Amino acid sequence: MADIAGLLAALDGIEVSTDRALLRQKSRDFYWYSPILKAILDGKAGELYARPKDEAEVLRILAACRAARVPVTTRGGGTGNYGQCVPLEGGVILDMTAMAKPISLTDGVVDVECGMKMIDLDLWARDQGWELKLWPSTKRTATIGGFVAGGGAGVGGIAHGTMRERGNLVGARVATMQDPPVVLDLEGDDASPVNRTYGTTGIMTRIRLPLTPAQEWRDIAIGFEKFTDASAFALALAFADGIPKKMCAVFDSQLPPFFRAIADSVPAGQSLVLTMVAPSGLRALRDLARDHNGTFLVEQSTVEAERDPDKTPFYEYCWNHTTLQVLKKDRGVSYLQCRFPFEDTLAAIEAVRVPFRDEVWMHTECVRFGGRTTMSALPVIRWTSAERMHEIMAAFEAVGIGIANPHVLTIEEGSNYRRVPGDQLGFKQRTDPLGLLNPGKMRDFVPAETTPA
Ligand SMILES: Cc1cc2nc3c(=O)[nH]c(=O)nc-3n(C[C@H](O)[C@H](O)[C@H](O)COP(=O)(O)OP(=O)(O)OC[C@H]3O[C@@H](n4cnc5c(N)ncnc54)[C@H](O)[C@@H]3O)c2cc1C
Repeated sequence: MADIAGLLAALDGIEVSTDRALLRQKSRDFYWYSPILKAILDGKAGELYARPKDEAEVLRILAACRAARVPVTTRGGGTGNYGQCVPLEGGVILDMTAMAKPISLTDGVVDVECGMKMIDLDLWARDQGWELKLWPSTKRTATIGGFVAGGGAGVGGIAHGTMRERGNLVGARVATMQDPPVVLDLEGDDASPVNRTYGTTGIMTRIRLPLTPAQEWRDIAIGFEKFTDASAFALALAFADGIPKKMCAVFDSQLPPFFRAIADSVPAGQSLVLTMVAPSGLRALRDLARDHNGTFLVEQSTVEAERDPDKTPFYEYCWNHTTLQVLKKDRGVSYLQCRFPFEDTLAAIEAVRVPFRDEVWMHTECVRFGGRTTMSALPVIRWTSAERMHEIMAAFEAVGIGIANPHVLTIEEGSNYRRVPGDQLGFKQRTDPLGLLNPGKMRDFVPAETTPA
């Protein structure tokens, strides 16, 4: 147990709480998608909630926690899927959502406080003619700090790859757990150790990101009698350099009935493609759909839909929202994250979709990795047991499909192809020698300093 009374005295003037209901609520994320993680994480909670309003308060909190040897688990929107912001060893929950202002936008680079919601950041940039290159399907609830530290893939991936591509993170200001805690201003490759390391290597206070010129994206739903036609169409769209697009997802016919606002528009038994395309590409998209036996079913403005709380932008049926849409009606499913080979991509999808069709409902997303285009997938999987989930993963891997296992807690075990290059372990040994930042999430870390408090 941490010395909460001592911490409260040291944090005088900062927004803090010991309310148990609040602590329970702020110690959770969406780990419950995984029955394996649910069994491990249910009931874990922090002991003190702190919500700093600026960098100086972050440093005060870190200094007090270091002095008292209290762990700190950072939290943005709390939408992570792998228990990234669930404290394994109690301590302080550091909520970054009061630090939510844009600082500047110059030459297409935005400098922003990391607790800002991504939707707010995108709409702010859009007013100046720019938009985010990448966002998760949780854009309306997630923070930019949480996306960089805990996510990193999603809408925009068909054009810009993931956050692990060099250049997609320009820089960050990072508060450390050294003696005393300091703020480092990191640029380029030097910022990689805080990219997708679950807040184990430092607390980002500000982030600099490259933007891209804003487009009036159209959400388009296209139906196909055959999954293979839908899949071939999607990959052809991904490779169609003349058609500006932000997203393209494919769903086997079991899934569209779970997509509330469009389910009635998709004929029973059809596979579905949901895509976001710029107005200039719409005619070419129709021609491409015709060549693959696709029928336009629904069209709407993405930006109008995301500004309206009663509407659903199509990206909220894609990426890991697909699983959520099914879970809303059927708690008996879970999911996987995988990436198909760059060559013979469609054949690899069929090699697992067909034999497992009763329990694996295929959902793929077009994405670029290292300059090459392929498809990743978040298939919805009928849950039977952990053993069965591991059998399915092994069967996928046997045909050359990479798995980023979403049923594990540590960066090393879960990342696979999503791991950001760089010496994250060496960086943590310098910035968090006591191992107080989100302990238990970096498997290979051994504390360098072992002096008791
Ligand atoms: C329905 C659904 C759909 C999703 N779709 C996607 C998707 O398309 N793409 C994707 O990448 N992810 C997706 N996710 C996962 C998650 O929503 C995103 O990764 C999101 O960007 C996380 O942001 P957050 O603010 O909620 O982070 P949190 O969950 O609060 O935190 C995530 C991690 O980042 C750390 N962290 C937060 N802020 C900071 C900071 N300032 N400094 C250092 N560490 C910090 C936390 O400690 C934690 O380890 C999805 C999740 C759900 C539930």
